[in-house]
Amino acid sequence: MTELSALSAVPVGSRDGVLRFYFGPMDCGKSTLALQMNYNHGRQGRRGLVLTKHDRSGGPQVTSRIGLGSEAVEVVDDLDLVALVRAHERIDYVICDEACFYTVAQIEQLADLTDDFGIDVYAFGLASDFRSQMFPAAQRLFELADEISRLQVEVLCWCGRPGRLNARVVGGDLVRTGEQVVIGDTGADPIRYQVLCRRHYRSGDLGLSSWTPHPADVMSRATSDTASEVASGTSNGVTGEATSDAAKKVRGEAANGVAGEDPPAAPPAPHRRQTAQTPSSSQASPPAAAALTALAAGV
Ligand SMILES: [Zn+2]
Repeated sequence: MTELSALSAVPVGSRDGVLRFYFGPMDCGKSTLALQMNYNHGRQGRRGLVLTKHDRSGGPQVTSRIGLGSEAVEVVDDLDLVALVRAHERIDYVICDEACFYTVAQIEQLADLTDDFGIDVYAFGLASDFRSQMFPAAQRLFELADEISRLQVEVLCWCGRPGRLNARVVGGDLVRTGEQVVIGDTGADPIRYQVLCRRHYRSGDLGLSSWTPHPADVMSRATSDTASEVASGTSNGVTGEATSDAAKKVRGEAANGVAGEDPPAAPPAPHRRQTAQTPSSSQASPPAAAALTALAAGV
């Protein structure tokens, strides 16, 4: 960090960068906002980098259901984000989609980019997983971010209350245990995610439990690759549904435990399946404070 050749346009100390975390449940438009923000900053002549992990497209890009898309760098666990940024001639800001799936070390690197290089970091992601427990990376963002904003684009529970938590539904029932991040695959048993209000998340009342995926939806999903989609749905917050290589998808999607931003609010995302991937992520029960934050903040 002494020589800033790679970041010469942003001399140390010239300005303070900002680390912001935008969180919300599935389908709240996180990726869409991330893409809009990238567009706006680019229009202002700023140079940025877009990062993501497990985008539903399965490829190195951030996609949105409403048709927006951008190339992005796929964040793998051992990627050093400071080194990544420094490898570029000039970077003014970094957009981090699906930040909830990054490692805690990578969140620390984002703070380093802000503090040591004056780079603005805009992180987007879910706060909590299907158990209503915070993702480690999201928790670290809550602890370190300069600004935290909840995105609430009217994602409603079936009862009409604001959707706050992401429930994992397996075989028609809400489940509260399992791997934090699951990968999707096409298997036979459907695993899907549904956004619920706190009351119904806690009571386990899915309301639309009788809801079944629309045949067309099932078909399309089955067609593309399953693994990916599933995963993605889960994972991202925004994305469109893409399809690229399965392998990637698998990898990517695995990531989430919850997420996905997929279906528009009403019917829960059609099933996405997943398989577990991550090691026991079920993190040990988080401190009470974290649990409260997750419940209070919803997602
Ligand atoms: Zn409800």
